[in-house]
Amino acid sequence: MSKRLALGLFSGGLDSILACRVVADQGIRVVALKFVTPFFDHDLLGQQEAYARAMREQYGLDVQVVDISEGYLRLLENPAHGFGKHFNPCIDCKILMLRRARELMGVYGASFLITGEVLGQRPMSQRRDTLRVIERDSGCGGLLLRPLSAKLMEPTQAELEGWVDRERLFDFSGRGRRQQKQLAAQLGITDYPTPAGGCMLTDPNLAARIKHFYHGLFSFGEQRAVDDVRLLVVGRQFKLDENLWFIVGRDERDNNRLEALRSPDDWLVRMTTRPGPVGILRHGRHQVTAGGQEELIRRLAGIVVRYGKKIPDGPAEADVMIDMGEEIVRGRFGPWANDADLQSWRI
Ligand code: SF4
Repeated sequence: MSKRLALGLFSGGLDSILACRVVADQGIRVVALKFVTPFFDHDLLGQQEAYARAMREQYGLDVQVVDISEGYLRLLENPAHGFGKHFNPCIDCKILMLRRARELMGVYGASFLITGEVLGQRPMSQRRDTLRVIERDSGCGGLLLRPLSAKLMEPTQAELEGWVDRERLFDFSGRGRRQQKQLAAQLGITDYPTPAGGCMLTDPNLAARIKHFYHGLFSFGEQRAVDDVRLLVVGRQFKLDENLWFIVGRDERDNNRLEALRSPDDWLVRMTTRPGPVGILRHGRHQVTAGGQEELIRRLAGIVVRYGKKIPDGPAEADVMIDMGEEIVRGRFGPWANDADLQSWRI
């Protein structure tokens, strides 16, 4: 077997699986890099070994999870190539990933890079001129092999040096998926995700919320924190006042996430005698002034009770605990009844 090693950008979608496999099947050792940010696949950071095992079993690929959150949060402030339809900076996103992959080449001893990009598949980020821009701005000229469309492009170093056989690469183009599906069948790959993908920045609702956040929805300091962004996509979100950000779980999964993401200065609100949501007041310890505390507690508890489990023919009120870190307040509160208020606070 060749000692050559290539790093692949691995989204987990079919194109990236195929691109990595096509090169691996030529005897190159491929390490598939799965980049994660708070906007896509961040949960994999807690299950890297299981994920790597699953990818090895399913696709025969060596996948490594790499967190690029910090750089990504900065990128979203002002991406040089702008945004797609929603808050998705696809061109700069790819440039960032390729730059990171290029940096990692030395670490892995890699000779070249692979992506699953297909010429003309996406209107903005996979046009021929855009692919060149991505290559140029990431500093990957000549290093970057796109095996699925390679025959429609200038040969790269890997082909010129004979590390890979260009004849065994492909000339796929356009939006259709027929050729990819055929190739998958030939390679024995039957189980793969649909192309929809899991990037929150292309989801109209989440993208709007994230954009709002970036445009000063709250100002908790100059740097946007990874955990703030992760909280932004959980549960029901309320802006109760300037910098009073309250998040309420919709189900057990949300509640668990909220508790896991809670920082020491967040307030936690929950009913104590019947099931219901967890509420987190972000940075409550610093954001709440003593003067308005009593009314705020009534409001927070009321929202949690409002979305909590109701008892048929039982009392609407519930026992609620507000854990403020240094102090815990307990009391009996009724549900916040004014829907217009709730609506106006929703983000
Ligand atoms: S859809 Fe999301 S992950 Fe994919 S290139 Fe665009 S911004 Fe990056």
